[in-house]
Amino acid sequence: MGFEELLGNDRLKDELRQSLRSGHGAHFYMISGPEGSGKRTLARLLAQALMCEGPEPGCGRCEGCRKVRDGVHPDFITVDDPEHKTVAVKLVRDARDDVYIRPNEGRRKIYLFPQELGLPGQNALLKILEEPPAYAVFLLITDNEERLLPTVRSRCRVLKMSPLSEDLLRRELGRRVPDAGREAIDAAIARSGGYLGQAERLLEGSNGLAQQTLDFVEAFGRRDAMGLVRVLVPMEKMKRDVLIPILDQWAQILQEALACRAGGRAISEQARALATARSSKDLLEAIGHLKKCVGYAQSNVSCAAICGYLQWALR
Ligand SMILES: [Zn+2]
Repeated sequence: MGFEELLGNDRLKDELRQSLRSGHGAHFYMISGPEGSGKRTLARLLAQALMCEGPEPGCGRCEGCRKVRDGVHPDFITVDDPEHKTVAVKLVRDARDDVYIRPNEGRRKIYLFPQELGLPGQNALLKILEEPPAYAVFLLITDNEERLLPTVRSRCRVLKMSPLSEDLLRRELGRRVPDAGREAIDAAIARSGGYLGQAERLLEGSNGLAQQTLDFVEAFGRRDAMGLVRVLVPMEKMKRDVLIPILDQWAQILQEALACRAGGRAISEQARALATARSSKDLLEAIGHLKKCVGYAQSNVSCAAICGYLQWALR
């Protein structure tokens, strides 16, 4: 029941089932693990189990389970702030005030913080952490427990995500990305750290490369300064939110080439070609320039200035 949808992590799932069955759930959970390790899936399944009206927590069929799954349960509240790196403290304070209003229809009121809380946000939570209403549950998600204050961490039940076995990853990737070849899947698994989301992203990144990326790989591989200019000049007119993912893609492919030079298997043929064409030092430098430029774009430097800089820096 309940937690099957999350792959692997058997011990964690058993522990949760047992604690929920025996009524020893916690008020504060911290779900911790790297990107792509299933933290949000676990958070949703846990919320389902907590809201479930069926005989076994997390039946998946009752109204409570369904509403959580569809994201429409009025007492399952997501507090996020996609515009910022950490959740603005005002939103945490709003949640803190809202928690004293009783649940609408559920037995519990669950707050999910899918994004990291900064120090002011964590401090704002401390008061509820000391004395939460009986029906309140908080789910904090983090990829680095160290960034949470010890006073917050010590009050949370920590749920740590584990990497998946190679067999499980291979089976699931074969199902989710059926076009991927065996070699690409092996390489993605090797670089994923055992986390499905990362492996999947690596595989998807190897298809669907932007035309600019293909042209960039070609020009950079041949040290063709004019070729680079031909790619970059039209990009000067792009909007930042179009430019940023392309530069990210370039950095990612160079990173992959670098890993390939260090003996790793490359997922895409473009990365393999770059690994033969350029030295590790060249690749590292170019990655540095690209990351710097993504940072510039995020802090509102114009695309024209960024592309101009890259024509010089990557030549
Ligand atoms: Zn249910």
